[in-house]
Amino acid sequence: MPPASRQPGAAAARTVTLTGWGRVAPSQAALAEPASPADAAALLDPRPAGVIARGLGRSYNNAAQCDGGLVISTARMNRILTLDAGTGLVTCEAGVSLEQLMVAGLPAGWFVPVSPGTRQVTVGGAIAADVHGKNHHAAGSFAGHVPSFDLLLPGGELRTVTQRDDPGLFWATAGGMGLTGVIVRATVQLTRVATARLRVDTVRTADVDETMAVLTEHDRTHRYTVAWSDSLARGPHLGRSVVTSGDFADLADLPARLRPDPLQFSPASRIGVPGEWPVGVINRYTVALANEAYYRKAPRRHEGELQTIGTFFHPLDGIRNWNRVYGPGGLRQYQYVVPFGQEAAVRRSFELVSGIRAPSFVTVLKRFGAGDAGLLSFPMPGWTLALDFPARTPGLAGLLARLDELVVAAGGRVYLAKDSRVPPGLLGEMYPRLPEFRKLRAELDPDGLLASDLSRRLGL
Ligand SMILES: Cc1cc2nc3c(=O)[nH]c(=O)nc-3n(C[C@H](O)[C@H](O)[C@H](O)COP(=O)(O)OP(=O)(O)OC[C@H]3O[C@@H](n4cnc5c(N)ncnc54)[C@H](O)[C@@H]3O)c2cc1C
Repeated sequence: MPPASRQPGAAAARTVTLTGWGRVAPSQAALAEPASPADAAALLDPRPAGVIARGLGRSYNNAAQCDGGLVISTARMNRILTLDAGTGLVTCEAGVSLEQLMVAGLPAGWFVPVSPGTRQVTVGGAIAADVHGKNHHAAGSFAGHVPSFDLLLPGGELRTVTQRDDPGLFWATAGGMGLTGVIVRATVQLTRVATARLRVDTVRTADVDETMAVLTEHDRTHRYTVAWSDSLARGPHLGRSVVTSGDFADLADLPARLRPDPLQFSPASRIGVPGEWPVGVINRYTVALANEAYYRKAPRRHEGELQTIGTFFHPLDGIRNWNRVYGPGGLRQYQYVVPFGQEAAVRRSFELVSGIRAPSFVTVLKRFGAGDAGLLSFPMPGWTLALDFPARTPGLAGLLARLDELVVAAGGRVYLAKDSRVPPGLLGEMYPRLPEFRKLRAELDPDGLLASDLSRRLGL
């Protein structure tokens, strides 16, 4: 591919304050929204404070921020270029969201290969964080379904990077948090589905051991599995959960009224959270009540319930800006994975969280399958637990520090797309291929143009 020319007249930048979805660490940067790779290339001038790409800002902390530097948003690079209805191969600009891919692909029977818990993420962001979904045990993470992407390198060269021919750069970029260049286009292999509904089995478990046993069993029989856990339950109820496992329904599974239009998908019009919420609405009492209600509402065991894509995959997308409920202090997400055999560490995590009554409502436990070749990709075979806490929770810093220790001792790691505070010294233990990543970065970007608030804090 010819180099993208550096042209004058690229998108003008304006100064803005940015945060991630958790709203914990605002910083100011110039924000530019180029409409083409050439316009984006023209922005890659040497600048001491650095440059980083940004998608829809759904990473929880500051991976897509660059204090005092330039943030290149892909908001205007959001066109689907080709979609082959026969093979499900789609080529699109990097700012296309997974929701756009669903709207375009489903009428022809194609769904995204991997979906995180929100569909409001871009293809560029999904590759850069190598995101995972409820089907990780069956399908791996997002980058595995990307045969190639076009990457704007820090020097301005536009390179087509294929998984087969350029695995070094491909797997540094997949999971590389935007630090190898700006992805401007990508080809993604979509997944064949017969309908836009899922057949869902639900099991309410009594404790963490039963939760892990049911997840293990359901991973053998279902493509999508996950447990929502009651983070505040203690004693004999520790780690009690609602496990939901599903597969896309066949036409024959649908009731007659849905059969004429089995692939119908209309992203629900979303209600918003009005204004700024006061501090303290999400606290140990409200979360305990919400957890109890959610747990009790679930059936002890229910099979074959038909659910929409929105209900099954993206329940939080139904409420726009739900992160505001946490008030001006924001929220801290913490997600780790520990290898199989470290079940005691999972159990201990629930003890630590419930022990200080730290209120996490969105508490998700899942089993990962094999990891991929991404140098900084998060998943590895094992148990992953995601927690979210109001950032001002008393005792939170100490709790998360203890979880870090637990995770490192168990041979696990935390997820960079959600991290806001892991000590840099622990990173090498969590990501053993970090030296390879740093070496490749030093060769690719000797002047250190690409940088984010996250990369500076962690020395990535
Ligand atoms: C409600 C919710 C649920 C979530 N559930 C999951 C989940 O189940 N699994 C999971 O894996 N993640 C999950 N996430 C995290 C989210 O999927 C990732 O953080 C994803 O990267 C966000 O994509 P984005 O387009 O918003 O990227 P941003 O948040 O804007 O950026 C994320 C990173 O990608 C880089 N980046 C973005 N675009 C490009 C580009 N074009 N070129 C190069 N680098 C780029 C940025 O520099 C940054 O490092 C969830 C987030 C939310 C808010």
